[in-house]
Amino acid sequence: MSAPTFDLGRLHGGLRLPAHKTASTSAPILRVPVPDQLVLPLTQHAGDPAQPVVQIGEQVLRGQLVANAEGTLGAPVHASSSGTIVAIEPWPVPRRYGDKAPCIVIECDGEDRAAEAAVNLPDFRQVAPDELLERILQGGIVGLGGAVFPTAQKLMQATTSELEYLILNGVECEPYISCDDMLMREYASEILGGAQILLHALGLETCYVAVESDKPDALKRLGEALAELNDERLVLKQVPTIYPSGGEDQLVQLVANREVPSGGLPIDVGCVVQNVATAAAIYNWIVRNEPLISRVTTVTGAGVANPVNVEARLGTTVAHIIEHAGGYTEQAQQLIIGGPMTGKSMTTDRVPLVKAANCILVTAEPPAAGPAMPCIRCGECAAVCPIQLLPQQLYWYACADDENKLRTYGLTDCIECGCCDLVCPSRIPLTGEFRMAKARIRELEDEKARAERARQRFEARNERLEREQDERSQELARQKSDAKQAGADAIAEIMKRRQRKDGGE
Ligand code: SF4
Ligand code: SF4
Repeated sequence: MSAPTFDLGRLHGGLRLPAHKTASTSAPILRVPVPDQLVLPLTQHAGDPAQPVVQIGEQVLRGQLVANAEGTLGAPVHASSSGTIVAIEPWPVPRRYGDKAPCIVIECDGEDRAAEAAVNLPDFRQVAPDELLERILQGGIVGLGGAVFPTAQKLMQATTSELEYLILNGVECEPYISCDDMLMREYASEILGGAQILLHALGLETCYVAVESDKPDALKRLGEALAELNDERLVLKQVPTIYPSGGEDQLVQLVANREVPSGGLPIDVGCVVQNVATAAAIYNWIVRNEPLISRVTTVTGAGVANPVNVEARLGTTVAHIIEHAGGYTEQAQQLIIGGPMTGKSMTTDRVPLVKAANCILVTAEPPAAGPAMPCIRCGECAAVCPIQLLPQQLYWYACADDENKLRTYGLTDCIECGCCDLVCPSRIPLTGEFRMAKARIRELEDEKARAERARQRFEARNERLEREQDERSQELARQKSDAKQAGADAIAEIMKRRQRKDGGE
């Protein structure tokens, strides 16, 4: 067994925040029964929406594919239980304010019958890495830390780089969220099994399992599971409890002491990062043939009667989950999917549990209200920014919609951690403004890409028309020349005949 290590890099900025995790970690993970109805959004990942492969009225089994991955960045969706497809329609989803998006709705039959195993699963060590990556793609597995980037594509991209370390992210630094902590306590063997699969798929020899110092039970349980495995390639690393040390780039800095370049990725410095829950999901799929149809999520906050971590089927409504956590308290004011720093405020609890949902937080405080005060240029926001950005400058340029300056000042590197908001004495909603500015820049980029494609199509069309015009002109010239020659030949023939006739007379 490898002992926890402390040879760490340094993190810039960040905040030591009150954890608020004791309430939800005092009981084991609660299994939420399968509800009567499941609502499965087609977009539960970063990328193109999945395409339904089922019809209304069709019977489906647990684990059956119901929507296929689409595009280069896609992830399939599987039925979380058995039942009948009753609708494919827009439904409120955990986007900001619970906007609607297309979902597959399953009326469950209560039998929870599993689909037949599609394959006889071989030992993953006997499977070629490429095949293993292809199979991970079919399991609908995405990054469960919140980014929901399709895992197989991330790994495939990683294999094109010179890699040295796999880092498992067990750093759950945002207040209130404790699902990874409980997962590490109760599913340590599955997490480490997932790490071994990932090492094989990536052809790597070292995996750091990073866990914060404030999770002694998780560290202990992982240490025991490591001892049972006796795999020297897996090394436990204890990191300080500071927000946002669980951000990918920050974790690489802490664990591998390597700085991810601006606009770059961890693979640029030889590291690939996967969340511990993602590793467990990979193990369940590759070893047990269970696609991603459930997840552990934290249900907490002063607005919930019995804060707890639950394991629930994807597509279960938040209302159903909260009911199993004892329901709402009288103080309940605001529903947030995610943590208090990065979560999204909802206007309805009809939204379903999705792959990204690591926390259901019900606060006693209403959404922040009241006008922001002018910036007093105190510099607090810059001092805590883990990316060493200048949030006050970014805010200025975001308000002015100055895309060039926003790029110059590194807006695209902002990880939307919310540290700057929290310390701002003027209560300026910096992160919200950055999020919107990023969305505008993405729209502009999409528009530019569309305009570029239209320009290329226009030029290609013009080239084709010119080419066709040239070809027509050449053909006309050839026809004219042929006609001229034919005319000359005909005249010559007439002349010859006349001469012959004249000679005969
Ligand atoms: S913390 Fe707020 S008031 Fe202070 S410089 Fe930053 S934006 Fe301005
Ligand atoms: S939200 Fe962005 S700008 Fe603000 S502290 Fe975090 S990374 Fe820095």
